[in-house]
Amino acid sequence: MFRFMVIGIVLILAYLLLKRFLFPSRRVDDRSRDDRRIKGEELVEDPQCHTYVPVSVAYRVSVDGKTLYFCSKECYRKFREKGGHVPD
Ligand SMILES: [Zn+2]
Repeated sequence: MFRFMVIGIVLILAYLLLKRFLFPSRRVDDRSRDDRRIKGEELVEDPQCHTYVPVSVAYRVSVDGKTLYFCSKECYRKFREKGGHVPD
């Protein structure tokens, strides 16, 4: 009889832990992770076509000790061709 009670309690605890683990906490974690990613993403301006691109996907070059961000390598090539000045 005692053994059945222990098994019952263990099953109830396991069920409660599982329910708690599966349902409310996962949704909160996902949302906070998304928020952090959006906030952490910095936008940079392409000096050639003036498009704003996320820093993680921008084409990055160092010109005269300054870091410039372009939306593509093509824009960097055009920028160099017209001898564009480096903005302050
Ligand atoms: Zn561009």
